[in-house]
Amino acid sequence: MSPKPFGGGLTLLSELVGHPRWKGMRLLDAGQGRYHAEAASGDGTEVMGGCGMGSTRGEPEVAHGPASTGDPPSEAAASDRPAEPASAPERPRLRRLTLESNTEIAPSIYVLTWKLPEEDPITFAPGQYVTFYLKRDGRSLTRSYSIFSSARRHDRLSLLIKKVPQGFGSHYLTALDPLRTPTLSVLAPLGRFVLHDPEGRTMVLVATGVGVAPFLPMLERLHDKHPDTPVSLFCGTRFREEFVDRPFFELLEREWPNFRFVPVLSRPPEDGSWNGAVGHVEEALRAHFPDLSGADVYLCGANRMVNETQGLALELGAKKDRIFVDRWGEHAD
Ligand SMILES: Cc1cc2nc3c(=O)[nH]c(=O)nc-3n(C[C@H](O)[C@H](O)[C@H](O)COP(=O)(O)OP(=O)(O)OC[C@H]3O[C@@H](n4cnc5c(N)ncnc54)[C@H](O)[C@@H]3O)c2cc1C
Repeated sequence: MSPKPFGGGLTLLSELVGHPRWKGMRLLDAGQGRYHAEAASGDGTEVMGGCGMGSTRGEPEVAHGPASTGDPPSEAAASDRPAEPASAPERPRLRRLTLESNTEIAPSIYVLTWKLPEEDPITFAPGQYVTFYLKRDGRSLTRSYSIFSSARRHDRLSLLIKKVPQGFGSHYLTALDPLRTPTLSVLAPLGRFVLHDPEGRTMVLVATGVGVAPFLPMLERLHDKHPDTPVSLFCGTRFREEFVDRPFFELLEREWPNFRFVPVLSRPPEDGSWNGAVGHVEEALRAHFPDLSGADVYLCGANRMVNETQGLALELGAKKDRIFVDRWGEHAD
C-alpha cells in the first residue's frame, strides 16, 4: 500500500510546511486539528513525486561522545574513519557550505539551511550528521549537528540547532547572518545512526527536543520505502512552544495510517489546553508499548533520556541488537 496523499512526495509536501525546512510549500490550518498542504504559489495542489534511497546498515549501538576539540582532519584522514557502514552513500570528507538562511522557528530553536557548491553535491543516509570546525581563542573545536533536511536533496543541508545557555557553538552558529557569513567547512556525512530494514517489525522513534532532527529524513525514507510498517514517533519537550513541526507530524498522522505521533510535554500549560501525554517520553512509551519485543527502537537526544529509554526498552522486551541510539551529550537535546 502506498499512502495516497503523499504518493512518494513527502519531501515536497514537507517543503510546504511553515518553516525553512519546508521551503516552497506551506501548511494551512483547516481547523479541528486538521491541516491542508498547499504549494506556496497558492494553487492548492498537493505535490507528488520524488524518490528515495535504500536503507543503510550500521551497528546497533551507535553512540556519539561529547563534542571534542581538534583541528579539521585532512580529507584523506577523514576518509579513513571507520564511522560509515560499507553501504553508506558517501564517505565523509570536508565540504564547503554557504549559509543560505537562518530562521528561529521556536524559542531558541533555529533552522539553518546551507548551500553546497553545484559541483560538489552530497548524498547522505537519513540519520547522519555533520561536524563543524570552529575557532575559539585560537583553538579549533568541533560541534556536530544531525542533518534535518531530506536525503533527496543533494544541493542543500538543513540543520536544526538549539541555542543552549552559554553554549559556544550553538550561539556562534545561530547568530550567523546569511548575508555576511563566509563559507564554512564541515566534515560530512558522518555517523551510523541510520535506518535498518524493519523486516516486518514496528518502528519506534523516540526523541527529546531537537533530537527529532534525524527522524525527519528517516520518516521520509520509511514513508517511501516501508509505508506498511507501523511507525510511532515520540517527541518530548518541556513546553508546547518547543515542539518542532508538530503540525507536520499531525498532518502526516492523518495521511499515513501507519504513522502515529505522540507529543509529550513535561510542563503542560496550566489552563488545561493540553490534551496530550504529560511527563517524560519514557512514560508515554511504556503506556503505548507495554511489549516492544517486535519493535526496532531508535533513540536520539540527551544521554539521560537515551540511557533511560534504552533500559526501559530492554525491560519491555526489545532486543538489544534492535535498539539504535544517537547520544548527543550530557545536556543536549
Ligand atoms: C552526533 C551529534 C548530533 C547532534 N545533533 C544536534 C542537532 O541536530 N541539533 C542540536 O541543537 N544539537 C545537536 N547536537 C549537540 C551539539 O553538537 C552541541 O553539543 C550543542 O549545540 C551544544 O554546543 P555548544 O557549543 O553550544 O555548547 P557548549 O559550549 O559545548 O556547552 C555550554 C554549556 O551548556 C551545556 N549544554 C550543552 N548542550 C546543552 C543543551 N542542549 N541544553 C542545555 N545545556 C546544554 C554544556 O554542558 C555546558 O555547560 C549533536 C551532538 C552530537 C554528538
